[in-house]
Amino acid sequence: MEHTSDTVLLGKLIDESSYARKERQIEIDDTIVIDWIDSKRGVLHEVKKSDSLEEAHRWQLLYYLWYLKQKGVSGLKGELDYPKIRQKVSVELNEQTEEEIIEVMKKVEEVVASASAPEKKSRRFCKTCSYFELCWV
Ligand code: SF4
Repeated sequence: MEHTSDTVLLGKLIDESSYARKERQIEIDDTIVIDWIDSKRGVLHEVKKSDSLEEAHRWQLLYYLWYLKQKGVSGLKGELDYPKIRQKVSVELNEQTEEEIIEVMKKVEEVVASASAPEKKSRRFCKTCSYFELCWV
């Protein structure tokens, strides 16, 4: 659904104007899209248009790091970039976050395997999610 989202488009524009000289987006397995990589320092960057730091952003990047580790690429770090508020947040996988990701993946698989969709729950972030129309309209 991201191709229909104004929010995603705005994020891309901010990304392109803020980091024009960096290596561009890298899509892996139709599963993750890394905004850019600082290959010298081994850091994945995720650029956020938001003017607030959100836990979901951290987990998105942790998932990317975990996904790459499953593919044999380890030792990477992550950095969330917030150009609007000129802040950076470092993100690193550790034993606990890896366990939490595995638990979440199990729950996702349960939902996918279920015969019916789970009960809908309206969340604060639904309004800016690119799946809003699919879930709520
Ligand atoms: S419930 Fe739907 S709209 Fe809300 S965050 Fe999840 S995918 Fe997005």
